[in-house]
Amino acid sequence: MTQAPLDASKLKVTPTSHPTQLKSNDQLIFGKTFTDHMLTIEWTAEKGWDIPEIKPYGNLSLDPSAVVFHYAFELFEGLKAYRTDDHKITMFRPDMNMIRMNKSASRICLPNFDPEELIKLIGKLIEQDKHLVPEGKGYSLYIRPTLIGTTASLGVSTPDRALLYVICSPVGPYYKTGFKAVRLEATDYATRAWPGGVGDKKLGANYAPCVLPQLQAAERGYQQNLWLFGPEHNITEVGTMNAFFVFKDNKTGKKELVTAPLDGTILEGVTRDSILQLARERLDPNEWDINERYCTIDEVASRSKTGELVEAFGSGTAVVVSPIKEIGWRGEDIQVPLTPGEQTGPLTKQVAEWVAAIQYGKEAHGNWSKV
Ligand code: PMP
Repeated sequence: MTQAPLDASKLKVTPTSHPTQLKSNDQLIFGKTFTDHMLTIEWTAEKGWDIPEIKPYGNLSLDPSAVVFHYAFELFEGLKAYRTDDHKITMFRPDMNMIRMNKSASRICLPNFDPEELIKLIGKLIEQDKHLVPEGKGYSLYIRPTLIGTTASLGVSTPDRALLYVICSPVGPYYKTGFKAVRLEATDYATRAWPGGVGDKKLGANYAPCVLPQLQAAERGYQQNLWLFGPEHNITEVGTMNAFFVFKDNKTGKKELVTAPLDGTILEGVTRDSILQLARERLDPNEWDINERYCTIDEVASRSKTGELVEAFGSGTAVVVSPIKEIGWRGEDIQVPLTPGEQTGPLTKQVAEWVAAIQYGKEAHGNWSKV
């Protein structure tokens, strides 16, 4: 029997009998409240994708032996939908998340799906609960597609059953009162990812082991880990963000925007990709080099001493950009300059404005916004 492809036209909708109202904007806590409905789609190796269903948000029922609980057959995505100034609701670059989701699925032997079909279905889910999409600068609907292996078996092998589900959480801005620059601890005593590993996949198994080093960094007064790799101490990424540095060459005066290359050890961030594209389109090439290259913590430390380190920030869907003000390394704090009187540097602020203008529909950029 051939496996059925994912087909959005087969959607079945069961509306909730207890619709809720959107909380006031100041009551929205990231990932704690959810919309009224969820999307679920079962898959079996025998039949392929079953009919998609939108139904009231609620508990899942799974066998305790399901492989997701024992061998971490789990992956997820994170993207957002925005209420734009012209009263539409748009998703930001969902095609990128769908591509990444299929890559994560392939890596742990879970099924792939047609990205366009899942985007259509997520669109229907948002439509179902559109009154729960908050309005205002920095407010959005965080969308969490998830795929798990559900085969009931303690054998470690390819799952023959899976469940794809999508839940949504109305969220507010990461920084309610403007930017707040963070302190990071450069971490070499624990390693997030390694060559040949799965650091570029959005597997749940990549996240749980990072919480302990984060707690340890927090005890020393740092909000996140800046993950280093290898004897050279290459900078890879930050907690759940990609990392960017801005240098200014003292001799030539030329500035450089640097982020780590996609070598399989960092997550291929959608925000990272968007920032690189916008920087390449909008910054003057006579003044700027935009480079995806290895950069070590020692380069950052030594160039901070000579005044060549001018900015640093993290990038990710939740926050867009997060300015960095200090990096703890070997008992010292590397200082990153901020604009006087502000919690950000000029490029960090500029990049945040560029991305927000596209997300909230003030500006169009190719097909980045999907209705
Ligand atoms: N790195 C990691 C480890 C992450 O979890 C995330 C968040 N998805 C990012 C980077 C940023 O990726 P994106 O811009 O796609 O949100």
